[in-house]
Amino acid sequence: MIIVMASARKEDVDHVVSRVEELGYQAHVIQGVERTVVAAVGDERGKERLTSLEALPYVEQVIRVLKPFKLAGREVKKEDTVVSCASTKIGGTHFGVMAGPCSIESEQQIQETAEAVKAAGATILRGGAFKPRTSPYSFQGLEMEGLRILRRVGKSVQMPVVTEATTPEQVPVVAQYADMIQIGARNMQNYGLLRAVGKAQKPVLLKRGMMCTINEFLMSAEYILSEGNPNVILCERGIRTFETETRNTLDLQAVPVIKLHSHLPIIVDPSHAAGRWDIVIAMACAAVAAGADGILLEVHPDPANALSDGLQSLTFRDSERLVSEMRAIAGAIGRSM
Ligand code: PEP
Ligand code: MN
Repeated sequence: MIIVMASARKEDVDHVVSRVEELGYQAHVIQGVERTVVAAVGDERGKERLTSLEALPYVEQVIRVLKPFKLAGREVKKEDTVVSCASTKIGGTHFGVMAGPCSIESEQQIQETAEAVKAAGATILRGGAFKPRTSPYSFQGLEMEGLRILRRVGKSVQMPVVTEATTPEQVPVVAQYADMIQIGARNMQNYGLLRAVGKAQKPVLLKRGMMCTINEFLMSAEYILSEGNPNVILCERGIRTFETETRNTLDLQAVPVIKLHSHLPIIVDPSHAAGRWDIVIAMACAAVAAGADGILLEVHPDPANALSDGLQSLTFRDSERLVSEMRAIAGAIGRSM
């Protein structure tokens, strides 16, 4: 249920929050541009009692939320959410470019990449330290050493950094070193991990599971939001289909569909979708045209010798070309980057 306030005075909002909590619900206050709403999340059975809050003079309306996702839905918040990550923003009119290697391999590798992608126009540096690999015999990442390297390099080039946490236990450590915590596709429905990042004080980049529907994707975002972390960025990274020319099939329709249902920013990762570098630029441009709030890209100084995902990684020169082509598309449809 959503309680639309007729007043934004703190004591009125506090009173509604305490009434909602007395009735056994969790109260989430959402401060919109036009109005303040209190979302009451919990057992649907007591909703008749919540409806009676409409009798309060400072409550305009109590509305039943029809969608299964409540906090992630446009019903509770009409305007786009803008997520701040250190000095940058993503969502609304802010377009973000997250770029860097799949895995952090050495300080020199990530330093060179950071300088190149920053010069090309990237706003956030990415790099995996804890890698969720399909085979236990593949390179698993530099782990703690990787986190330390990423933090140092991010600081030296003055870029916020995003990296993945693969278990709930890693969340506090990753939160200490990174400006944003990534939840990988394979963990989109790891509910213990979602709850753990929901309790963290850092924004979360939630990637869509390769066999998950848009509805399941938004329900996973709901787990994070319902733990009290409102800063969630969604990422479409391709889903599994019968096609074998590409690693996954980039579901670009997810971008406008999610924009209809949710106020959360949605970015696109053409690298993991394609699995091959030679179509990444085309799909990044298509993502901009579809209305994405940003892109996530894999870039490597020497893709042929990368320890993971080399086949889909762009060279520095191609990443520069990609950003300039995306800018042209953004300009053509009246968006700025
Ligand atoms: C990654 O970003 O390197 C990664 C492992 O992505 P995904 O979880 O989308 O496969
Ligand atoms: Mn990768």
